[in-house]
Amino acid sequence: AASLNTMTAQLAATDRRQREFLADVAHELRTPITAIDGFASALVDGAARTDDDRREAAEIIKGESGRLCDLVADLQALTLADLDQEVVREPTDLVECCREVVERLEHAAGERGVLLRGPRAGQDPVVAVTNAAHVQTIVSNLVTNAIRATPPGGSVRVSAMHEGGSAVVEVADTGVGIAPEHLPRIFERFYRVDKSRSRNAGGSGLGLSIVKHIIEAHGQTMSVRSTQGKGSTFAFTLQKA
Ligand code: ADP
Repeated sequence: AASLNTMTAQLAATDRRQREFLADVAHELRTPITAIDGFASALVDGAARTDDDRREAAEIIKGESGRLCDLVADLQALTLADLDQEVVREPTDLVECCREVVERLEHAAGERGVLLRGPRAGQDPVVAVTNAAHVQTIVSNLVTNAIRATPPGGSVRVSAMHEGGSAVVEVADTGVGIAPEHLPRIFERFYRVDKSRSRNAGGSGLGLSIVKHIIEAHGQTMSVRSTQGKGSTFAFTLQKA
């Protein structure tokens, strides 16, 4: 009977977490959908009178639908991370994974005046037992956050190295940093330090929960050090091949 009680309690907890998750998702969907609905109505019923009004409405609709697409992509990634048991893990070069992400995001960083640097040319491979797509998901989430947090003239550095018996990947920025009271909470779903600013900058608030899920599925943990006004360093370890 005791174990049956435990099982019932566990099921109730899962059920509660799922309902909380759905409530969070509904809440996050509401803001962009309300904006799209409002500005689409203004176009349909003629409340947007001038060409300028109509252009502004169209731009807001475009921006908010873009945010919805990002949110749905993140939700999908989070669900896939949950089903991680099935994912194939094989010897993977982390240096190469980091380079691919840097190549993909270099342009976006440059546009914001941030210098994005990857592993130096000619560095020996750092091989871990993992999944390349997952490592790239993690690194690109960390780099996207780092670029967003870094003012023009700053830099973001991505590196892969051996440390003790493990392989380590690190993303370091010279950005705004994270206050100590927020640090323990940034991996929570939909948690944002500066709500209005992050929303406008386009973050879904899910990036770090996806990262945490994938790392935990590897039986590993993330670490983060941050000094306000100086920058942050996110790191994770993987089992060496
Ligand atoms: P988001 O989609 O908002 O980026 P995340 O889960 O990826 O969501 O991150 C949660 C919050 O943590 C961000 O909104 C931001 O406030 C903070 N954060 C994450 N990475 C950094 C960083 N490198 N520097 C400063 N703040 C960060």
